[in-house]
Amino acid sequence: MAHSALVQDVVLAVHGGTGIPRKRMTPELEKRLESGLENALRAGFEKLAAGSALDAVETSVRVLEDWPEFNAGHGAVFTEEGTNELDAAIMDGSTRAAGAVAGLTTIKNPISLARAVMEKSEHVLLISAGAEKFARQIGAETVDPSYFRTEYRYQEWEKAQAEALRNPTGPRVFMSDTHQWGTVGAISLDKQGNLAAATSTGGMTNKHPGRVGDTPILGAGTYADNAAAAVSGTGHGEFFLRFVAAHETVALMKYKALSVADAVEEVVNGQMKPAGGEGALIALDRHGRFTTARTCEALYRGYITSQGKIVVALYD
Ligand code: ASP
Repeated sequence: MAHSALVQDVVLAVHGGTGIPRKRMTPELEKRLESGLENALRAGFEKLAAGSALDAVETSVRVLEDWPEFNAGHGAVFTEEGTNELDAAIMDGSTRAAGAVAGLTTIKNPISLARAVMEKSEHVLLISAGAEKFARQIGAETVDPSYFRTEYRYQEWEKAQAEALRNPTGPRVFMSDTHQWGTVGAISLDKQGNLAAATSTGGMTNKHPGRVGDTPILGAGTYADNAAAAVSGTGHGEFFLRFVAAHETVALMKYKALSVADAVEEVVNGQMKPAGGEGALIALDRHGRFTTARTCEALYRGYITSQGKIVVALYD
């Protein structure tokens, strides 16, 4: 699957994962997904007018975390033990300051906690109980773990469990006909020329408890560097980790002078796909050029230009 055409003059872009094949899409779900992406873009764009790229990506991702159809925050997928464990990261391309969290079970908006780790702690990555403790210290909004549950994700998990039982030596994190990922992400370029990236996820259905994917690992699922691009990924996280996908994109641009479109294409379809890695990257370069690359049919995504023109798409 080739990368999408390059779009110019983009100030903010979002994704909601690689999603389900078109043949399983319903008009109702399509509408909900599109309106989630649009709302996220609108809210982020409003922030961008008065604030920074960092504010914009945090705001957009919060909207998508709250939107039940995406695999982040409310609507996250389930672990093998039937729990929800959330990961997120945010990065400022101007300073390469960053914050990340993993294995959260009671934090309503993991992306905002990631930002707090960046701004209010001496650290970059906090996990599990320690991250939850930090959240309480700074007064982050907490919820009962049941808040994250949606019926759709629960049924998906039951199917995955049944499949794992039927085929005990097979993969545990996949359902055969639905290789789908619904992680959310946002990338932005502000008027000061600063880039930022943010990504948030529930991970992969039926993942082992304690499994951490690419999303909160800087360079793997999330990266921003003013010298090149802001990048956010979605897909089979183990591959994004092994190929350090987001940073690889930036490195190809910086050290091999690849365009943003060629860089994401090289990482997604040139490097990861031949190794069996499915997924997608979205990227925005320092000139406001936006592009995506993916291995699969669907990629829920959208962008907004400096003039406020919004475009969202799930396929094509
Ligand atoms: N990349 C995420 C992970 O492996 C999953 C996703 O993109 O939906 O945790």
